[in-house]
Amino acid sequence: MTRFSFSLTATDGAARTGVISTPRGDIRTPAFMPVGTAATVKAMMPDSVRATGADILLGNTYHLMLRPGAERIARLGGLHKFMNWDRPILTDSGGFQVMSLAELRKLTEKGVTFRSHIDGSKHELTPERSMEIQKLLGSDIVMCFDECPALPADDKRVAESMRLSMRWAQRSRDAFGDRPGHALFGIMQGGVTEHLRAESAEALTVIGFDGYAVGGLAVGEGQEAMFGVLDYAPAMLPTDKPRYLMGVGKPDDIVGAVKRGIDMMDCVLPSRSGRTGQAWTRRGQVNIKNARHADDPRPLDEDCSCPTCQGYSRAYLHHVFRAQEMISGMLLTWHNLHYYQEIMQGMRDAIAQGRFADWEVDFHRQREMGDIEKL
Ligand SMILES: [Zn+2]
Repeated sequence: MTRFSFSLTATDGAARTGVISTPRGDIRTPAFMPVGTAATVKAMMPDSVRATGADILLGNTYHLMLRPGAERIARLGGLHKFMNWDRPILTDSGGFQVMSLAELRKLTEKGVTFRSHIDGSKHELTPERSMEIQKLLGSDIVMCFDECPALPADDKRVAESMRLSMRWAQRSRDAFGDRPGHALFGIMQGGVTEHLRAESAEALTVIGFDGYAVGGLAVGEGQEAMFGVLDYAPAMLPTDKPRYLMGVGKPDDIVGAVKRGIDMMDCVLPSRSGRTGQAWTRRGQVNIKNARHADDPRPLDEDCSCPTCQGYSRAYLHHVFRAQEMISGMLLTWHNLHYYQEIMQGMRDAIAQGRFADWEVDFHRQREMGDIEKL
């Protein structure tokens, strides 16, 4: 049986490319993980998600534990079978979403009690329960249960929160046990304070994980502050394990993170934007709602090989968005996910060939040109 493993095949500056091997298939890194919050990447069939080039999906523990319930998914054969996706799945721990979505939260050393944002029912999440839920779901990559303060926060609050997360990381490790073929990732905290990041990295490395996430970023600190942390944080983590930046981001955030040594990312942005009429292209963002597209027979991006750009005009995309047709979200989501995966493939190739810096210059140059001229 294939065990979980990671091999680096090339580095270029701090940027890395490699392969994570799991019993459910390989994950090429740097990897972008589309988000399948409620056991679906919204508006996409699983085969279509795979066709965009995704090797792995992310599922949300918080949403799935509340509805339809982790025990129910386990009885139905696990999350992969339930949602008809047989490749790797990473699940978050639920911690971040409890903090951002749930009501009447109460945080103690033991864990968090809260009320569901769906029906007000009372629940508890602890490191032990989070490990149990992620096991019931059948997740391939399990995340430690952690806590993360919204930024800005003072150093004292960030330090207390980080140390609680490190105690929870040990409890997560103990509860996860030995599960060949499955991985447990630790999550580094410490806000934007370098010595707290170093303390967190040291604590996690002592416990020992299959991979390490840089947590507590993309929570309102801005790109400059995020890159500031990424200038030093990835190098504090073991070189031979995957590094995951959670909840990032826009195309230029992703490129900047890979440049600084990140191997994996996830974000709702390409799918969420698709449902609100926003497309991401090599030339930047396109708002398909704008009247300028109403008579435009050209595709979103003439050089894009996705089914949306191969078969549909901007005029059609504008029309179906205005008419609130479901195909609008489907077509824009497909294009956006395809574009994100194209960025990842471009970076993997560039790193392998030692030309990441040139690739990055070209990436920014095309974006700065802005959208194609109006007809
Ligand atoms: Zn396209």
